[in-house]
Amino acid sequence: MKADPANDNPKPCPICDRPSTEKYRPFCTARCADVDLHRWLGGHYAIPAVELDDPEDGDAEAPRENPRQDD
Ligand SMILES: [Zn+2]
Repeated sequence: MKADPANDNPKPCPICDRPSTEKYRPFCTARCADVDLHRWLGGHYAIPAVELDDPEDGDAEAPRENPRQDD
């Protein structure tokens, strides 16, 4: 028996590598889909964040340090 429809899926579950199911694809079960979601929320995925450390920030020259100028 080799014609398992679940095994025919080219993309396995990214969480556990089992054959994904049509209902939960690309995951195999709702649980794996949930795990993936939590990974995203937990920041486990390496998403390119916005660079905030730009050394050439032009705003650095802006005169922002005069809190008492209004006096
Ligand atoms: Zn899975």
